[in-house]
Amino acid sequence: MLARARERGRLWDFLVIGGGATGLGIAVDAASRGHSVLLAERGDFAQGTSSRSTKLIHGGVRYLRQGNVALVIEALKERGLLRRNAPPLVHDRAFIVPSYAWWESPFYGIGLKLYDLLAGEYGFGASSHLAVDEVVAAIPTIETDGLRGGTRYFDGQFDDARLAIALARTAASKDAALATYCGVVAFRKAGGQVRGAVLRDAERGDEFEVAARVVVNATGAFCDDVRRLDDVNADPIIAPSQGTHLVLPRDFLPGETAIMVPHTDDGRVMFAVPWLGRVVVGTTDIAVPRVETEPRPQAAEIDFLLETANRYLARPAGVADVRSAFAGIRPLVSAQGRGTASLSREHALLVDPHSGLLTIAGGKWTTYRRMAEDAVDVAQTLAGLPARPCVTADLTIDCTAPAGGEPLHAALPLAAAQVRGYCREEMARRVEDVLSRRSRCLLLDARAAREIAPTVARLMADELGRGDEWISAEVTAFKALAAGYDIAGPGSHNP
Ligand SMILES: Cc1cc2nc3c(=O)[nH]c(=O)nc-3n(C[C@H](O)[C@H](O)[C@H](O)COP(=O)(O)OP(=O)(O)OC[C@H]3O[C@@H](n4cnc5c(N)ncnc54)[C@H](O)[C@@H]3O)c2cc1C
Repeated sequence: MLARARERGRLWDFLVIGGGATGLGIAVDAASRGHSVLLAERGDFAQGTSSRSTKLIHGGVRYLRQGNVALVIEALKERGLLRRNAPPLVHDRAFIVPSYAWWESPFYGIGLKLYDLLAGEYGFGASSHLAVDEVVAAIPTIETDGLRGGTRYFDGQFDDARLAIALARTAASKDAALATYCGVVAFRKAGGQVRGAVLRDAERGDEFEVAARVVVNATGAFCDDVRRLDDVNADPIIAPSQGTHLVLPRDFLPGETAIMVPHTDDGRVMFAVPWLGRVVVGTTDIAVPRVETEPRPQAAEIDFLLETANRYLARPAGVADVRSAFAGIRPLVSAQGRGTASLSREHALLVDPHSGLLTIAGGKWTTYRRMAEDAVDVAQTLAGLPARPCVTADLTIDCTAPAGGEPLHAALPLAAAQVRGYCREEMARRVEDVLSRRSRCLLLDARAAREIAPTVARLMADELGRGDEWISAEVTAFKALAAGYDIAGPGSHNP
């Protein structure tokens, strides 16, 4: 793949910067319209926000409360398309909104009936009122003191990093060239227009130039840094906000049904959702001054999540129960950055009037396909390419993955054959690529993931032709990374 990116004298139709949901979606869209595409990601696929979501494919119940019906309809349609185009990665999940006050069941019941209605032909199943015993049957660990019943509804759930890899596979099958560990460090212009970039190859430690008819900045929360490579005075459009999740053992929520808390003390929604044999609890929303590649959960977020979850769980969870904690930065576009044209959208498209650099940011995983369609429609015109129609609404996403075998650790679903397969078929280059994003071991059990890091490093070294020095550096780096996820570990946060 990297060899194709380095081809001298090649003029790509598209250079896409960023290998998260947005950039990969654009690569799939543009390549499937028949354009030539090079995608450059400075780390691994989905290393940014796209591996750190709540793992829901949803219409956004909270937008209903804000009266933003158009947004909900669009997201519900995308939810339906994704379930059709990306099985088994995207599937249905039942949620219950438990009621402890007399007004909650009718109030949320009506809201969720509207949600059903808006989904129309893309619906996942009708919402319904449940009596106390039905709620307890679905969620045996629910706090029963004061419980009056609940409302059940259906949404989508997925594995975010695996969907990113599936999109990368799909883009590659459409002949897109994908280069990971290659970050854009400068632009190349002709007549003031951005017509290429300088890429730094983190593995070789050198730089090379690429040329393209149009350059799309799809770097999410990092997009202002890239815009400043084009115009040092560019005003920021991102108002970064951090969200944290805690991962608990499955016995805190043993059934197949998730809990949805519609109104936390800080006015947000919160979820406790069964996922890959664990329970994901999240999320928070705190403004942060800087966009970090590896954001850390803050003590106040951890306290808030445990406190809120424990109001709904009969057996309270403590820090010692947390198997992993992860944080992500929302690429929220400020009202100023959004402009008037896209006020009704969650995402913004911005064309620099001088250089023609196209930036797309905001939105959510659920709507990545629609964002890509919007971006490619504009980019085709900017590039002077033929205006070909989008075909992704009916495009099947390649969800194959390397098969398993004997697990390397009793607590983790990862086998040696998979580690090899991730290197051979899915461009895994570092231990964290395998343990955090090809498999989700780091999120499922940070301490167990740390324990198998040396074995994984040796298997990868065999595949990638690396030596002892690489193994030792990778194990040290992964252990340091995992310590940030293992909040129950020695020396970690303990409220
Ligand atoms: C806490 C939280 C929970 C969420 N939950 C959900 C959910 O349940 N459902 C949902 O639909 N959405 C959810 N979202 C939203 C969703 O995760 C994001 O909208 C989406 O992942 C953003 O993708 P992106 O590709 O724009 O950004 P990113 O995933 O951050 O990708 C940007 C990429 O650009 C790369 N990059 C940066 N600079 C450069 C450079 N100079 N050169 C090359 N590459 C570069 C980065 O390494 C990164 O990989 C959630 C978000 C958060 C924060």
